[in-house]
Amino acid sequence: MRLILLGPPGAGKGTQAQRIVETHGIPQLSTGDMLRAAVKAGTEVGVRAKAVMDAGGLVSDDIVNQIVAERVLDADCAKGFILDGYPRTVPQAKALTDNLKSKNLALDAVIELKVDEDKLLQRIEKRVADTVAAGGAVRADDNPESFRKRLVEYREKTAPLSEYYADEGQLKVLDGMKPIDDVTAAINAILVKS
Ligand code: AMP
Repeated sequence: MRLILLGPPGAGKGTQAQRIVETHGIPQLSTGDMLRAAVKAGTEVGVRAKAVMDAGGLVSDDIVNQIVAERVLDADCAKGFILDGYPRTVPQAKALTDNLKSKNLALDAVIELKVDEDKLLQRIEKRVADTVAAGGAVRADDNPESFRKRLVEYREKTAPLSEYYADEGQLKVLDGMKPIDDVTAAINAILVKS
């Protein structure tokens, strides 16, 4: 099963992806996580990406396309994967389609979590509070200023993906404001059919 989760920052993509990992046994490929790991490890990609990420901007298509193209070749992706935070631009979506086609593969589903943008800042604040309470490290871009920039990037560059995948006949839209368990149930209902 090859699946994309779409939605603005704070929509719950990461939370839902983790649940799908558990129930379906396929890995979550989060370009954000991969880039944060590269920043932490101080790789060339990490050094190039850090300032853009901290400010809430988008890392170049070339960098993320390459990261994903390499990652999907790993053995744990043989049965499929959930893409979380990728693609984020129409050129990335086209690159993904070409990449999968070259391997005779295709996506099974594209699920968009629709959310009330006014509530997103509160969700991010809660994520920060929960992380601090659990003794974890807060993301450098989980602050109001970077968050606003991430939302602008989403509206300008990522929201057009809904139309792209709707045109491809692959888009399913869910209410991401429902309780977490309800969203999970709705996702599973889609996955059973695909
Ligand atoms: P995320 O964890 O998905 O919220 O991503 C955190 C940050 O990593 C984003 O704000 C971007 O700076 C960068 N990033 C993650 N995925 C992508 C992508 N597909 N394209 C460009 N930048 C990305």
